[in-house]
Amino acid sequence: MICIKCAKCCFNTEMILTPSDVSRISKLGYDPSEFTVKRDGFIRLRNVDGACYFLDRKTLRCSIYPHRPIGCVLYPIVYDPATNMLTVDRECPMHWTVTMSDLVKARPIMARALWELRILRPNELPKLPN
Ligand code: SF4
Repeated sequence: MICIKCAKCCFNTEMILTPSDVSRISKLGYDPSEFTVKRDGFIRLRNVDGACYFLDRKTLRCSIYPHRPIGCVLYPIVYDPATNMLTVDRECPMHWTVTMSDLVKARPIMARALWELRILRPNELPKLPN
């Protein structure tokens, strides 16, 4: 996958946070009430003026990049609950650079996040696209 760091995925984010994400980011000194919102039964990144709370507007860079949520690490690889399958979000202008190898590597990481969110059971893996 090639990321051109356009920050498109940081605007109007709906990124779901796992408990580990919230805990890791909180340890940096942020209060969850600052950077999260609860919607549709999930804790998500908060938007401020249409962009992620952690987006540095001057540089268009993530201000917590080494600690960013797992969903942001994996993006544009996302999970489709309707098919229990990994898929690639075409909103990302570089979606076409995601390879099957990227999907295979993302699979156990996504599985762990989905287990934390009580979407998958332990040791259950999302399907790979054909
Ligand atoms: S939208 Fe895609 S190319 Fe742009 S920063 Fe996000 S992952 Fe990278």
